[in-house]
Amino acid sequence: MTVAYIGIGSNLEDPRAQVLRAFDELAQLPDTRMTARSSLYRTAPIGHAAQPDFINAVAAVDTQLSAEHLLRELHAVEVRHRRERSFPNAPRSLDLDLLLYGDAQIDKPGLTVPHPRMHERAFVLQPLLEIAPQVQIPERGAARQCLAASVGQKIERIA
Ligand code: ADP
Ligand code: MG
Repeated sequence: MTVAYIGIGSNLEDPRAQVLRAFDELAQLPDTRMTARSSLYRTAPIGHAAQPDFINAVAAVDTQLSAEHLLRELHAVEVRHRRERSFPNAPRSLDLDLLLYGDAQIDKPGLTVPHPRMHERAFVLQPLLEIAPQVQIPERGAARQCLAASVGQKIERIA
């Protein structure tokens, strides 16, 4: 059994409902038990400012799936949420990222764990710390320390 953390984000088509539905779908993954879900957070988009705010959250699971298998399951959930009229680089109706998989460090085509940008994103770190205050990011140290370095990113807990 491995403890994994999954980052959830949406900024399209009723993002709050998308994130809540994603929690329910993650809770039904095979050979996996959801152990915690964070509050929802409203966050300003990074990079392209001209798009709606995101709703972000993090889920914790105990899983018997391999990291590769878990990521495939996450992609399948994303596909079910994806709107059909999408275009390249469109804002996403649902983004699921495998943030941490135990203390594994994985660097394969299509799968990097820890997620390579999680340590600098308040919208990942704040919900993660809500449900795992002591969590460590391999090679980066305590997530709490990383959050301290991400000051200035706008994030607001909404539920
Ligand atoms: P982003 O999450 O950075 O906005 P995408 O969701 O489009 O981008 O993912 C791009 C690619 O990142 C996917 O094809 C996926 O295989 C790859 N990837 C690598 N590592 C991870 C990870 N830990 N979690 C989710 N996707 C990952
Ligand atoms: Mg992603």
